[in-house]
Amino acid sequence: MNTVIMTDLEGISGVDTIEMVSDVGTEGHRFALERLMKDLNAAVEGAFEGGADEVYVVDGHGGGNNFIKEMLHPKAIQTDSKGWNELIRSGKIHAYMEVGAHAMPGTINGFLDHVQSSKSWYNYIVNGRKCGEIAQGAIFTGAFDVPFVMVTGDEAACAEARAFLGDIAYAAVKRGVGRNKAVSMDLDKALEEIKRAAYEGMKKIGTVKPYKPLLPLEIVLELYRTDMCDAIMERCKDVERIDARSIRKRVSKIEYYKDILF
Ligand SMILES: [Zn+2]
Repeated sequence: MNTVIMTDLEGISGVDTIEMVSDVGTEGHRFALERLMKDLNAAVEGAFEGGADEVYVVDGHGGGNNFIKEMLHPKAIQTDSKGWNELIRSGKIHAYMEVGAHAMPGTINGFLDHVQSSKSWYNYIVNGRKCGEIAQGAIFTGAFDVPFVMVTGDEAACAEARAFLGDIAYAAVKRGVGRNKAVSMDLDKALEEIKRAAYEGMKKIGTVKPYKPLLPLEIVLELYRTDMCDAIMERCKDVERIDARSIRKRVSKIEYYKDILF
């Protein structure tokens, strides 16, 4: 059994202010990256204990460059975004996990809630249902029959994942207080929880179904401003304008993760 663990930074344990994520180069940001490695390693450990033969990891936040290489679990295999796409497509991955996830935009007490761009994406709606990045990961991996078995993040992210995906394993490591602050659980306890969730996630293989909304997907993106809409219309083919701030596309076959983005 092989698994891929995607990471993000917003839902990492101990990351409890917006500045720890946004202010690169500060002590708080360095601490966030160290916690990212600790949360990830706990998940890697749990996945191996749960029966994984190979555990692949992806540095997902802001396009990468967050991992502290010397801290990475020695048995974890790091891959980039291209490698991630290929692995999911390959048929050799049996489970997908997300560590450090965050809720979709418009979530009460969702710490740093957003989808893709907190500056321009207002709502991202698939087949009539508002979605965030958790659903996006599930849609792509589900298209290749890979089940999304485990998530870690704040309480809102875990609740969202379970609302979309059913009874998956999870570790809620903190609670959002409004959008820009969170209260973390004890940091050592968080690592234990994450390890347990990853272990349980491996045991969910075979019971959690891949996430497969009906094709063709109708994807509507609402942006904050009309000029943001104009820019996407110029850049993307096969996208139609619904109104001043909204665009739509239909996806009949999902080949790569980018197919469900704009
Ligand atoms: Zn992120």
